[in-house]
Amino acid sequence: MSDTALMPIPGLADPLPVPRPAATEGVTPRADGRTDLLGLPRERIRALFAEAGLDPRQAKLRAKQVYHWIYHRGVTGFEAMTDIAKPMRPWLAERFAIGRPDVVEAQHSVDGTRKWLLRTADGHDFEMVFIPDADRGTLCVSSQVGCTLNCTFCHTGTMKLVRNLTAGEIVGQVMLARDALGEWPKGAMDVGDGSDEEGADETEYRADGRLLTNIVMMGMGEPLYNFDNVKGALAIVMDGDGLALSKRRITLSTSGVVPMMARCGEEIGVNLAVSLHATNKEIRDEIVPLNRKYGIEELLEACAAYPGASNARRITFEYVMLKDKNDSDEHARELVALIRRYKLPAKVNLIPFNPWPGAGYDTSTPERVRRFSEIVFEAGISAPVRTPRGRDIDAACGQLKTAAEKKSRAERDREAAGA
Ligand code: SAH
Ligand code: SF4
Repeated sequence: MSDTALMPIPGLADPLPVPRPAATEGVTPRADGRTDLLGLPRERIRALFAEAGLDPRQAKLRAKQVYHWIYHRGVTGFEAMTDIAKPMRPWLAERFAIGRPDVVEAQHSVDGTRKWLLRTADGHDFEMVFIPDADRGTLCVSSQVGCTLNCTFCHTGTMKLVRNLTAGEIVGQVMLARDALGEWPKGAMDVGDGSDEEGADETEYRADGRLLTNIVMMGMGEPLYNFDNVKGALAIVMDGDGLALSKRRITLSTSGVVPMMARCGEEIGVNLAVSLHATNKEIRDEIVPLNRKYGIEELLEACAAYPGASNARRITFEYVMLKDKNDSDEHARELVALIRRYKLPAKVNLIPFNPWPGAGYDTSTPERVRRFSEIVFEAGISAPVRTPRGRDIDAACGQLKTAAEKKSRAERDREAAGA
C-alpha cells in the first residue's frame, strides 16, 4: 500500500530525519479505508476521535475507554464495548478498526512450542513463536519483514527487506498470542451482569497465572532499524493501562546498531541482547557484515554505557556456534577477555547453529559447545546453551528461537547426546 511505501526503511545508512508525520503515519494500512487503532498511543486515538467530529471531552473519554477495551479485554469490535453508548458503537465501527495480523498457518510442537506464520493486510508474511517453559512463556516477536543486514548464518538475512512492521503489527503479535492462549480476562461484564456503567473495577477481572510472561524482539528483522515503531509498540506493551508487562520481562536483540543503543536504553528501557557471534574483526566482519560499519570495540563500549545495565540486569551476548568458524577454545578465551576488558555485566547465550538449506555452515558438535560453555563459565560468566525447541515444526529456525533454559550439566549432556 502507498502509505507503507513511504515509510522510512533504513538500510546500512543511518536513518534520516523524517518530515512531519501525515495523518496516516504509523497507522497499519487497511484496504477498507478505516483507521486501525491498534498500536496507536491513547493520545493519538483521542486526536483521531476529535478529527472525526467528537467534542474534546467526548474524544478524551472515548479514547480512554476504547484503549482499555483493546488492551485489557482484547476485544476486536466496538459492539462489545458495553460502557460506550449504543449509538456511538456503529459510528466508531464505520470509521475505525482494531486489527490483528492474519494467521496464515499455526503450528503446535509436541514440546509445547507454537509457531505462527502471519500476514500483514497488504500481503507480507512474517513469523512469531511462543516458547513455554516451566517458569515462563516467551513470545518471540518480529520487527521487520525480512532484514537488510545479511548475516551469513541467518535465514532472514537472505530475504530482502520488504518493509518495517508498524507499531500495530508489532503489538498485534502480542495480542494474537493472547488470543490464541486464551489469556484475556473474563470479567464481570462478560458474564451477563447487564452492566452498562463505566469504570468496572479492574481487580474484578485481572487474570493470574498467565502463560505469556516474557517478550523477546528476536524474530525477523533488526529492531533498532525500526526504532520508532518498536518503541511505540513496546510502550503499549509496558503501559500499565496497556498490556502492563514489566520492562524486565522484555528483551530487545540487536546485531549491533551502535548509534541507536543508548536511545534504546533511555527511551525504551528494556533488557538488551547483542548478537556478538565472534571475538575478532576478521570473523565478525564475515558473519555479521554490520561489523564493518560498527566494530567490536565501539559495540562493546556502547554496551558498557548501556543505560540500566547492571549486575542485576545483565546484557546478554548471543553467540551462534558455527563449526570450525568461531567455536574454538581460543575463541572462548577471547570472549572472556573482551567481557572483562570492558567490565561488562554480561551473560552469554550459546546458540547451536540451526541449519537451513543452502547455509554455508555446520552446527558445532555438542562436545565443542560444551567445552566452549565450560571455559566461559569457569571465568565466572554464565553461559547456558540454548535448547533447541519446536524441532518438529521447524520453529528452531535460529532467529526465532529464544529463552535459554539454564540446565543442569546432566540434562545438557543428555540433550547434546540426542541432538
Ligand atoms: N536482528 C536481531 C534480532 C533478530 S535475530 C539480531 O540479529 O540480533 C535473533 C537471534 O537469532 C540473533 O542472535 C541471531 O544471530 C540468531 N540467529 C539467526 N539465524 C540463526 C541460525 N540459523 N541459527 C542460530 N541462531 C540464529
Ligand atoms: Fe538480520 Fe538479525 Fe538475521 Fe542478522 S541475524 S540478518 S541482523 S535478523
